[in-house]
Amino acid sequence: MMRLPWVCWSECVREVGWQTLYCGLNACERLAAAHQLLSPTYPSLDVIIAAPGCNRRLFPNVPAAPGMPCTGEDRSIYRRGARRWRKLYRVNGHIFQAKRFNRRAFCAYCQDRIWGLGRQGFKCIQCKLLVHKKCHKLVQKPCSNEHVDPIEVKDDANGESTLGRAASVRSRAEPEPPLPETPPAPVAAPVRNEDLEPGSQRQYSLEDFELIRVIGRGSYAKVLMVELKRTKRVYAMKVIKKALVTDDEDIDWVQTEKHVFETASNHPFLVGLHSCFQTPSRLFFVIEFVRGGDLMFHMQRQRRLPEEHARFYAAEISLALHFLHERGVIYRDLKLDNVLLDHEGHIKLTDYGMCKEGVRPGDTTSTFCGTPNYIAPEILRGEEYGFSVDWWALGVLTYEMLAGRSPFDISHAADNPDQNTEDYLFQVILEKTIRIPRSLSVKAASVLKGFLNKSPSERLGCGEGGFLDIVSHPFFKSIEWEMLEQKQVVPPFKPRLEGERDLANFPPEFTDEPVHLTPDNDTEIADIDQSEFEGFEYVNPLLMSLEDCV
Ligand code: ADP
Ligand code: MG
Repeated sequence: MMRLPWVCWSECVREVGWQTLYCGLNACERLAAAHQLLSPTYPSLDVIIAAPGCNRRLFPNVPAAPGMPCTGEDRSIYRRGARRWRKLYRVNGHIFQAKRFNRRAFCAYCQDRIWGLGRQGFKCIQCKLLVHKKCHKLVQKPCSNEHVDPIEVKDDANGESTLGRAASVRSRAEPEPPLPETPPAPVAAPVRNEDLEPGSQRQYSLEDFELIRVIGRGSYAKVLMVELKRTKRVYAMKVIKKALVTDDEDIDWVQTEKHVFETASNHPFLVGLHSCFQTPSRLFFVIEFVRGGDLMFHMQRQRRLPEEHARFYAAEISLALHFLHERGVIYRDLKLDNVLLDHEGHIKLTDYGMCKEGVRPGDTTSTFCGTPNYIAPEILRGEEYGFSVDWWALGVLTYEMLAGRSPFDISHAADNPDQNTEDYLFQVILEKTIRIPRSLSVKAASVLKGFLNKSPSERLGCGEGGFLDIVSHPFFKSIEWEMLEQKQVVPPFKPRLEGERDLANFPPEFTDEPVHLTPDNDTEIADIDQSEFEGFEYVNPLLMSLEDCV
């Protein structure tokens, strides 16, 4: 059988980041990443491809307690290490770095707007000149900033260079001069206070909101229920610590999450965005507050759902996924805790931090990511994959709703250390034939087998017929899809709610938490490269005008 190489990282390596070592990378990249990050400080480092249950450590000693630093451990090694992957491009004295621009930016060479998804343009890290990626080699104007701290830049064959450790420290220490960008347009681009007419909607900040209660936590974020003081409207506020978004690889997911939130604002089954803002230590997404809680909360209480209910949720989720797919987005993190119920009982997907955007039909990607229990076999096999992984995850989720347990339930193996690991779970996902409970109908069993086909090309929703194959599957025969999309079908379950601010559907483990945000820590902030978050601010023009009508 195929066994995934596995980097054994102990609690010592926690700061390297779960995201970097585990989530954003496939198994081989993880191994390389651990080497790159740690070997400058620990030349005799013993990175191992470990068998499950391995207890050898990456560091030469053991911390006093899990999560504590090891003796002699230098916390800064991690961030510096991660920066080594940044590519720099040298032309005419400029040192260009690929950047995303949220604000309107124009190319200094061809004068056209720099736009599109991903890192559309280049910015000189010295003189801040902005150019298109395609124009950077044509720039005649030499770099105006001759004063550069020594950087270890090693040219490679393509004229591309890898930034050495000293440079990342330099770019943080230097104050950033203002960007040579034109002021933003009033609608599509983020709005700044000084650009607005007196009396019109302003950029938001933390002071505009009253923090009411903690309602959720995920792997990255804390989510609060908040009130916009001016209108007394209630929103959810997703708070992410910038320190988590440490390196260039990671910043992508914040940008993606923001883009997808914007796209999502146009669909009834996706959580839309109100605004984004930041403080020196945190990023804030103000999003629709979805009152009925998540499916995890409801499944924990109901254990298993009648087929009628599961069909309704699966159908609404299918529409939400199809909408994202049509817009080039793979969702990649479908699971019970990311499916919310609104006050009427319709679903809303949230959490776009794992999404992949810019995917055209037939395109593939290869990042190893997701939540272990829901990761599709093709990802585990290290294959290139596309939208198929979302239909697999819908299969896992539908199975959970119908059977009240995961199709890859390894709880029986809890006492056996060899079988109580993610590695074992992945082996089960890859190899085990899925058993459908006999109590389920023939149609339900068929739809589960369809979605949970280990071969993506034969999976329901992934063949020639695409989404239509799902729509016409016998399990969904009773669904009137057009009515459903218009929220014209009455949901089978209405969450119990007494008033707009009732938190009965959120777990007390969160709602009992103190709601305050810890004050900023100067040393932590000094480590954050704020230029990474330039242009994060955003106000949804649609919601703005709605609010003005209040
Ligand atoms: P993470 O990216 O860290 O997983 P999520 O965006 O999934 O964070 O949010 C964590 C939890 O907070 C969710 O599982 C859900 O229970 C709750 N939550 C998230 N967004 C909302 C929302 N808009 N309304 C109500 N609850 C939410
Ligand atoms: Mg989540």
